Amino acid sequence: MDDLILRLAPASLWLAILWCVETFVGAPAPNRFRHGFVNLSLAAINGVLLFFTFGALSIWVCTVSPVVTESPFVFLHSVACFFALDLFSYCWHRLNHSVPALWRIHSVHHSDAQMDVTTAGRFHALEIAIGALLRLPVLYALGVSTITLVAYETTLVLVSMFHHSKLNLGVYDWHFRLITASPLMHSIHHSCDPRDYGSNFSSVLSLWDRVFSTLRLTERPLKHGLEGSCPESLGSLVARPFVADPNSADNHPMHRSGGG
Ligand SMILES: [Zn+2]
Ligand SMILES: [Zn+2]
Repeated sequence: MDDLILRLAPASLWLAILWCVETFVGAPAPNRFRHGFVNLSLAAINGVLLFFTFGALSIWVCTVSPVVTESPFVFLHSVACFFALDLFSYCWHRLNHSVPALWRIHSVHHSDAQMDVTTAGRFHALEIAIGALLRLPVLYALGVSTITLVAYETTLVLVSMFHHSKLNLGVYDWHFRLITASPLMHSIHHSCDPRDYGSNFSSVLSLWDRVFSTLRLTERPLKHGLEGSCPESLGSLVARPFVADPNSADNHPMHRSGGG
């Protein structure tokens, strides 16, 4: 429990800072508190459920990996593992947009028409659990250390809050996207416009969108969410992947446009 509190502290502080900043940029939506409450409730339930199960399993796999790194190379190995974990996140994210069954689950995240810092916590528990399971062989094969895994996951949460926030960095956005997935990049990823489908999958490092030619930038105003998005409630978000709704799960941006 102490570990959970320790890992929650930077995320909570960063959330509070970005929430306050969002208050002063643009007009906050009238139902902002209810919207944020639903997203953060989902994040809190997922956090408690998954930290003690798949989170603990991931840490255990790190400790039993037979890969041993000699002391002069520990730092280099950690950096390489950090990159590898982020490459896995990129591939997992693309898979979520390519496989219809996975899209049904990932659509919970994309159904947010009011994208803000709290959208960073709006994921279905199944998406996190399946992703964590698929990552276990990577952790084992690379011998990722516990500290590298914790450092990566903490960075992922902080960067995810940053690029989901309403921060409009204007001409300064490109400074950030040289290294990381910027708010503009991720805002385009959530766009309803077919021209934006299949772009900007990077989680932490923007490098992967450049390497795999999925980086897309535009200056025009963007609309977020999915057609026929379900009413905003905790129950509807949890049930969304299992509800036969042609306006939600089948409304897959890339499937509908035939893109990749
Ligand atoms: Zn996505
Ligand atoms: Zn997102």
